[in-house]
Amino acid sequence: MSARETGAAEPVLALDPIACVGHGLCAELFPEGLVLDDWGFPIVLPEASDPALRAHAKRAAKACPALALRLRAARR
Ligand code: SF4
Repeated sequence: MSARETGAAEPVLALDPIACVGHGLCAELFPEGLVLDDWGFPIVLPEASDPALRAHAKRAAKACPALALRLRAARR
């Protein structure tokens, strides 16, 4: 049962810009949800929180060596 069906908040992909070191691994792993700015730092796209792409978002968050990406409950 999905978060939407249970009434729970859908998780969103969140970036900690202080922890991010900008080497871009996440955008390589999850190009549907992350793009890099001119300085090589990721921008989280709205698509990053698409439930259909959740596995990709999780993989990108897990692969971040700086622990700068995580899935967290959406703020209401
Ligand atoms: S993998 Fe982590 S540290 Fe590297 S650019 Fe992405 S969020 Fe930043």
